[in-house]
Order: sequence, then C-alpha cells, then structure tokens
Amino acid sequence: MGSKSYEEAIAALSKLLSDKADLGSVAAAKIKQLTAELEAAADPAKFDPLKRIETGFVSFKTEKFEKNPDLYGALAKGQSPKFLVFACSDSRVCPSHILDFQPGEAFMVRNIANMVPPFDTTKYSGVGAAIEYAVMHLKVENIVVIGHSCCGGIKGLMSIPEDGTTASDFIEQWVSICAPAKNKVKSELTELSFADQCTNCEKEAVNVSLGNLLTYPYVREAVVKKSIILKGAHYDFVKGKFDLWDLDFKITPTLAV
Ligand SMILES: [Zn+2]
Repeated sequence: MGSKSYEEAIAALSKLLSDKADLGSVAAAKIKQLTAELEAAADPAKFDPLKRIETGFVSFKTEKFEKNPDLYGALAKGQSPKFLVFACSDSRVCPSHILDFQPGEAFMVRNIANMVPPFDTTKYSGVGAAIEYAVMHLKVENIVVIGHSCCGGIKGLMSIPEDGTTASDFIEQWVSICAPAKNKVKSELTELSFADQCTNCEKEAVNVSLGNLLTYPYVREAVVKKSIILKGAHYDFVKGKFDLWDLDFKITPTLAV
C-alpha cells in the first residue's frame, strides 16, 4: 500500500475521531491497528513488537519447553534456585544469557546499576522483599552481585556534581546508594581518566552492595553460619571477560557489622 492511501486513511480516521467524540476510544484503537498494518505493509523490515514477542515465545515453546518436559514438569511444582543474582537492567547483561542460567536456577533482581540498597523497610521494600524471599523461603546458597562494563548507571553516579544537585526524578537518588564507591574512586584514583574511573567504580559499587547485603539480618546470619556465600562479579562485554571475587570486608570499611 502506497504512502498516499496510508495518509488518507489516517486523515479519515482522525476526522472520524474529531467528529464523533463518543467513538474516540474505538476510533483510536482502529487508527492504531490500521497504522501498524499500513506501516508493516509499507516497510516489511519495520520492527513489529507483537510479532517479535509471538515469534520469541513460539521458538522457546517448541525448542525448549516442549523438548524438556522433565525440567518444566519439575518447575511446575516449585523452585529451589541456588543463586540470588543482582544484575543491571541494561539489555546487554542478562545473566541467563551470559551465565547460561536455566529456568529455576537463579532468582533475580535487576535494577539500574545492579545495586543492593541497605536494609530499609520503607524506602527499598521492593529489593528487600526479594532478598527476604530468596533467603528465608527459597534458601538460596549464593548471592552474586554482577556489575558490568560501560554501565550508564555508574556513569550517572560518577557524574553527579559535587554539590549533589540532581536533575532526574529517580535515577541519581537511586545510584547514590553506591556513593561510597564513587567517593573512594574519586579520592584514590585521581590520575585515571573519567572512563577508567567509571570502570573502577563499577567494581567498587559491587563491593558496596556486598556490604549492604550484610545489613539484612538474615543474610548476615546466613553468612556467619556459612549457609550463604556472597560473591562480587564484573562482566565486561567489550572484552568478553567475567571476573568473580569473594566478599572482602577490607574493601567496605564503612560497614558496621
Ligand atoms: Zn548498568
């Protein structure tokens, strides 16, 4: 279908929308549907999100779900993941992809810059609920916090001006959870370029998060009893590297445990 008829159709539906105010939602839905159909017809290469989701699920269902009845049958009855994983929301760092986690293996929290906030029942209840559930009910044995290269959240943290002024509704306040990491890097690694400081901060922020995990009483107790192991990690998707390290109390001297 040519662009002329496409434009005419949109114009006609827009006119209908304005003429018949009571048909607004119907007309709007029709416009949306027609727009998608016309755009797809005009440009077959244009991205279709609904098609993408459908194709993705069909592929998963035929290639994985239906070929692994034992796994999915067991998962239908419950989950007992060995890992609680913190990873960034960044679309390039999905732990299931980079560590090949299968369904049921890793309970996951993803947020901006993979941060674990300190225990706070009101301010950070979303993360707190995930930690409480993973530790108290699922009895995970490992908690891994995975930072990554080129992290926009960490760059944002490192870019907050000295006077602390912020321009975002949530982002800067959220990433300030790891302000101790920024302060350490800014004071100890002054000779490095900003990009290299950010790389260091990506790792130091993981250590701050490991320290913050210990502010949750059940995590602290499990670590003392050695029923949970805390690990820090950094995935570099430029070099294709993955570093893993143990919680180092020396790196988080501000922690009161
Ligand atoms: Zn990130």
